[in-house]
Amino acid sequence: MTRTILFAAGPGLWAEYETPLRTALDGQDVRLTTEAAPEDVDYIVYAPKSHLQDFSPYTNLKAVLNLWAGVEGIVGNPTLTAPLVRMVDEEGLTQGMVEWVTGHVLRHHLGMDAHIVNPDHVWDNRAPPLASDRIVAVLGLGALGAACATSLADLGFHVRGWSRSQKGLPRVSCRAGDEGLGAALDGAEIVVLLLPDTSQTREVINETTLSRLAPGAVVINPGRGPLIDDDALLAALDDGRLSHATLDVFRTEPLPADHPFWAHPRVTVTPHIASETRVSSAARAIADNIARAEAGQPLKGRVDRAAGY
Ligand code: NDP
Repeated sequence: MTRTILFAAGPGLWAEYETPLRTALDGQDVRLTTEAAPEDVDYIVYAPKSHLQDFSPYTNLKAVLNLWAGVEGIVGNPTLTAPLVRMVDEEGLTQGMVEWVTGHVLRHHLGMDAHIVNPDHVWDNRAPPLASDRIVAVLGLGALGAACATSLADLGFHVRGWSRSQKGLPRVSCRAGDEGLGAALDGAEIVVLLLPDTSQTREVINETTLSRLAPGAVVINPGRGPLIDDDALLAALDDGRLSHATLDVFRTEPLPADHPFWAHPRVTVTPHIASETRVSSAARAIADNIARAEAGQPLKGRVDRAAGY
């Protein structure tokens, strides 16, 4: 029986995704469209800013497939009762995040800034420590965090990871739950945030947790803006408890022109570019998930609505 896939992520994304999705879905008995009677729709490809907010007329829906990894824009929608899937795409999204995170960790680990910007031509020939002498904490060990923690461990860093449920990753010291957070953070020199934005994770980086880090630590946030108490972060940067914060995500995006992060000498702002959904590999991930659903297999990246991610 032909399944109907409604692309409800807007005309701009339709222009990008139509051909890659048709290619990826080749061989499956499906109809890909931007318009269909709600009761005929089996799957919806969704982006958070979509006009579609009321899912109640879609009475035969088998799954909603979100184009992004973050689901805070849809997870609380009470009209959605069908399974919700976030984007998990090792080939594109995960690889991009691994590259961004390892790059920014290495920048701070190696102290690159001192040599890239050296107006007084200071000959400071102190070599940086080895990665094995550096403690990096990765908060969030999901699709992205686990891949980043593993890559950092492969580079030789002493990596600690933290998640809600206990994980086992080779060469990563994994902690879980509220009681594991302190152990993950104590003495950490670099902290990478790859948690979702939920009521449990909001402001996980605050006055108390910052105080557990090594003096002069660095915070790197490609997760979500609300994970950080901004005032506590700025205070720690101002008094030198933190040496730097590299921030890719913010409570308000684009970051307002007058926000103190822009001008702060110890803050690097990147404009939510740590990683993005790459069209061709994302199309394959969507097609793969629809094939899984049709075969009665578990969906990859299924969201736990109660947990909020
Ligand atoms: P996942 O859902 O796969 O992983 C989330 C991780 O966070 C899991 O390890 C989970 O634990 C952990 N976690 C959730 N709640 C808690 C909690 N209360 N205490 C401890 N750990 C918790 O997400 P992804 O890895 O795919 O993505 C992570 C985030 O990265 C996204 O939610 C999004 O916000 C952000 N992102 C940013 C991008 C950018 O360009 N800046 C691009 C893509 C994503 P457990 O494993 O036990 O469930």
